Amino acid sequence: MRSLKPIPCQKKRKLKISQLHRVYTVLLKNFGHQKWWPGDTPFEVIIGAILTQNTAWANVEKAILNLKKARKLSFEALRRIPAKKLAQWIRPSGYFNVKADRLKAFMDFLDRECQGDLSKLKQKTMPVLREKLLAVKGVGPETADSILLYALGKRSFVIDAYTKRIFLRHGLAKDHDTYERWREIFMRALPENLDLYNDFHAQIVRTGKDYCRKVPRCEGCPLQRFF
Ligand code: SF4
Repeated sequence: MRSLKPIPCQKKRKLKISQLHRVYTVLLKNFGHQKWWPGDTPFEVIIGAILTQNTAWANVEKAILNLKKARKLSFEALRRIPAKKLAQWIRPSGYFNVKADRLKAFMDFLDRECQGDLSKLKQKTMPVLREKLLAVKGVGPETADSILLYALGKRSFVIDAYTKRIFLRHGLAKDHDTYERWREIFMRALPENLDLYNDFHAQIVRTGKDYCRKVPRCEGCPLQRFF
């Protein structure tokens, strides 16, 4: 992410890592529980996590609706259909040829690991699963953590562009810090609570969409009190 310009309301006070849990409670009080992730089944959550790369969620919803209408939103169906055909159904999500290959690679992974049975996959520990997910073609850390947290119920914090934008502006980490460093900051600071991980990321996305845009709207933002 490029360096962010100082913003008008920004004074010198930096957010401390020890305040992160407090940040969550403030957001929760303001926005209410976000009840993530949008998706009817863990399998649908996985498909959404892969399709949402580099596109808006509204486009993912259209692609998923196409798959549902064609009765192709299942492990068996996606495993059977050729990538070229799959690409046509997921066209609204953008980069559809690349994403069709990624979905096919993920189906191969599911076949190898659990024959498509996600309850079997869940039996593995988070660190083992994370390593395996990161080895799948097209699955980066943000996608892997989204799948772990929202589809498989594993406690792994998701870092996205909103997280970096908001907390860089609050001085929590540095521009050049790696994804793994960001994740470590959150995972060390927060209590070991799956629902907290789940909803905190959702609250961050909500804050990023409503207030902490490219040009921030600090007036009225619940996190303004942390400056
Ligand atoms: S918009 Fe909110 S989160 Fe973003 S810098 Fe301003 S107060 Fe912080």
